[in-house]
Amino acid sequence: MNTAILLGAPGAGKGTVAALIEEQTSYVQLSTGDMLRECIAQQSPLGKQAKECMDRGELVPDDVVVDMISARMANGSADDSYLLDGFPRTEQQAVKLDAVLAKTYGSAVCAVFFMDVSESTVVERISGRRVCPKCGAVYHIAFVPTAVEGICDHCGSSVIQRTDDHEETVLNRLRVYHDQTAALVNYYRNKQVLVEIDASGTVAENARQILEKL
Ligand code: AMP
Repeated sequence: MNTAILLGAPGAGKGTVAALIEEQTSYVQLSTGDMLRECIAQQSPLGKQAKECMDRGELVPDDVVVDMISARMANGSADDSYLLDGFPRTEQQAVKLDAVLAKTYGSAVCAVFFMDVSESTVVERISGRRVCPKCGAVYHIAFVPTAVEGICDHCGSSVIQRTDDHEETVLNRLRVYHDQTAALVNYYRNKQVLVEIDASGTVAENARQILEKL
C-alpha cells in the first residue's frame, strides 16, 4: 500500500490539491474532514459527536478518526495508493497510522508533503472559500469562482460557506493547528519522508510540485 500525506494548516489547500491529484493519478484522496461531514449529513451518532467538536474548531477525538480511516483503508487492496488529506493531525494519530500500516500491510508512509503558507494567505483562502453541500466541490470567491455566482458548476446546487470557516472558528482552528498538528512536521522530518512545498501559488503550481515527487 502506497500512503502519502498532505500536511498543512487549514486553508493551505490540501483538499483542492488532493482532488486534482486524484483526477490525474491512481492516488485516491482520503479526507477525514469530508468523511466527518458525510457522517454529519447522515445524522449518525458519530456525526453528532463530530459536529460539536467541528463547530468549535476543535479536533475530533483521535480514536474516532483513526478507526474511521482504518476502516476505509481496510476496504481497499494492498496495491492501492492513498493520499491522506487532513489526517493525521496529532502525533498520536501519526503513531497509530504507522502501526496500522506496518501491521496490516507491512508498509509505511512513503511521503509527507508539508504545504507551507503564511497565516495571511490561509485567512484569505478560508474567508473566501465556498463549498457545494451536495457534491463537495470547492470554490473561492476570487481565485476559483463559480461560473454563475453562488451556483455549483458541477451539480447546480447553491454553494455555501462552511460553518467552521466563519472567522471566530477559523482562529481557533489555526490555534489548534499550531498546538497539536504543526509538530508533525518534525515527526516526519525525523523519519526522512518530509517534502516541503511552497504552497503560496496556484492550485496547479502546488499540485505540480507534489506530482514531481510523488
Ligand atoms: P478539514 O475539512 O480537514 O478542514 O476538517 C474539518 C474539521 O474536521 C476539523 O477542524 C476537525 O474538527 C475535524 N477533523 C478532520 N480531520 C481530523 C483529524 N484527523 N483529527 C481530528 N479532527 C479532524
